[in-house]
Amino acid sequence: MTKGNINVSVENIFPLIKKFLYSDHEIFLRELISNATDATLKLKHLTSIGESKSEYGNPQIEVKIDKDGKKLHIIDQGLGMTADEVEKYINQVAFSGAEEFLDKYKDAGKDAGIIGHFGLGFYSAFMVAEKVEIITKSHKDEPAAHWTCDGSPEFTLEASDKTDRGTEIILHIAEDSTEFLEEGRISELLTKYNKFMPIPIKFGTKTETLPKPEDAKEDDPAPTQEVDNIINNPNPAWTKQPTELEDDDYKNFYRELYPMQFEEPLFNIHLNVDYPFNLTGILYFPKMTNDLNMQKDRIQLYQNQVFVTDNVEGIVPEFLTMLRGVIDSPDIPLNVSRSYLQADGAVKKISSYITRKVADKLKSLFNNSREDFEKKWDDIKIVIEYGMLSEEKFFEKADAFALYPTVDGKYYTYEELYNKIKAKQTDKDDKLVILYAADKDAQHSYIEAAKAKGYEVLLLDSPIVSHLIQKLETTKENISFARVDGDHIDNLIKKDDTSVSKLSEEEKTKLDELLKEVIPSEKFSVQLEAMDSNASPFIITQPEFMRRMKEMQQTGGGGMFGMGNMPEMYNLVVNTNSELVGQILGTKTRKKQERLINQSLDLARLSQGLLKGEELTNFIKRSYDMIK
Ligand code: ADP
Ligand code: MG
Repeated sequence: MTKGNINVSVENIFPLIKKFLYSDHEIFLRELISNATDATLKLKHLTSIGESKSEYGNPQIEVKIDKDGKKLHIIDQGLGMTADEVEKYINQVAFSGAEEFLDKYKDAGKDAGIIGHFGLGFYSAFMVAEKVEIITKSHKDEPAAHWTCDGSPEFTLEASDKTDRGTEIILHIAEDSTEFLEEGRISELLTKYNKFMPIPIKFGTKTETLPKPEDAKEDDPAPTQEVDNIINNPNPAWTKQPTELEDDDYKNFYRELYPMQFEEPLFNIHLNVDYPFNLTGILYFPKMTNDLNMQKDRIQLYQNQVFVTDNVEGIVPEFLTMLRGVIDSPDIPLNVSRSYLQADGAVKKISSYITRKVADKLKSLFNNSREDFEKKWDDIKIVIEYGMLSEEKFFEKADAFALYPTVDGKYYTYEELYNKIKAKQTDKDDKLVILYAADKDAQHSYIEAAKAKGYEVLLLDSPIVSHLIQKLETTKENISFARVDGDHIDNLIKKDDTSVSKLSEEEKTKLDELLKEVIPSEKFSVQLEAMDSNASPFIITQPEFMRRMKEMQQTGGGGMFGMGNMPEMYNLVVNTNSELVGQILGTKTRKKQERLINQSLDLARLSQGLLKGEELTNFIKRSYDMIK
């Protein structure tokens, strides 16, 4: 037997490891299974090139709990180690690896954004174990070795009688880590980190039902047998070539990733590149809701089929974090902070590659079946609009497929929309005004009025639309957007309205004075317009600029779009040609005039959704009194 001291400069590395990684103890299992996998894949390689005489067979990795003995075993059938190799790889390499890791980690440790903790490797075992044993038999014709270490720099190394090839790691679980002796906990970890690792992992057994024999009676129970419980799928879809996969394979893999998700994804994007960086993966577009925050953290990041994290911030452009799926890349540095990650050249390339692939896919969907794309638009627009706002490159590409739906269910690209409006425009030098509504029901009367004048009205109802149109107005030439109930609308209506005012100048002055006395000037700025006699007598509009700023205030994150508080201010457009307005003017008593004005104002507020609470209650009561 050999006894020895491990040569480390940090005197007591283990307490340090424990302390630094207190929240991440669970990764020890991922590290040990990764090592077992590496050892198996190395053997596979050696046998395939004839450098090992060993029979590769169908190796698997087994995880076993010995609850009474307070031990956890990780057993592989990989290439194993000779005693010399244990000296070298465990006592020297693993220790120095751990030391190096700790050095890096100490600097980056203050940054909460550390992803995974790759690099700690074998020594992470000491985060949960008070003693670790390695029993290993090399594929070479040499005796097996038995290494023991209790976490101090002292170790023992002796011969072992193990005869079958491979390595068994035995963790004597520490008092404060007994959770790792629970089947449920280990099972949870295996599912989280090892679900798609390339070598089959056995954890216990399960009962399988066999088909009944032909001569079985109806009441006979079906025969069963105990089989290995393999917890992983060693060949997940993303490791295959797109040409090997059918639509159903992608859907099945989605269900494998998100077993609790019942809705099918809308479409997927297969990522597959090996130069200048290595990346594979499948991204899915799920149905989106308008809630931006609910939908993050669904993309899983893997390295060589080992799960690392489901927080891909900094790796994937933010607008794509709303997607789902898997990204696997060994080229993403993981033991660094997020801020460092975002500045990393390889990561930047990866991020723009993903953006480009997503844009290309959207474009081809649009080109191949526009009808189908239009049907999906409502479910995907939030991602596309968000991308157009946040990534300039994506904005440029999206011009080819971003859609602008109308209230009547037609879908235009920007170019189509522009040409359509341009063709109708009478004064060619004027700015083009694109009318839109945000809510078909609430703005119904305005939409109808605009349509009656022959305008095309868009339906733009996503929560970030005010940012988007602001962006379009600054990027595209000579256009502006106006919501149907905004203050532009009365200009538009007035402009091509041929009707002349029925009221004389004197009557108008009288009406103006009367309205200003009755209607609070701090809330409404009153405007008289000679409109069509069938148009509403009172119409409330909100200045486009003010409404948009308010909306941007609500949806814009942080200081980027932040503005001070805006006051509530509305325009009240009074149609001097309407019969009711004529009547108000002709009414004898002042009291009755006021009643008519207030009732009309309330109706206008009601149609804008501005009448609420006590005022609404009073309005309803008053209306009943009137008709009884
Ligand atoms: P890394 O995996 O990054 O090399 P580790 O600390 O995890 O670092 O492991 C150190 C070394 O110990 C490995 O490179 C390998 O040579 C050896 N080793 C660890 N586990 C096994 C195993 N199960 N079978 C064979 N060799 C192993
Ligand atoms: Mg390792």
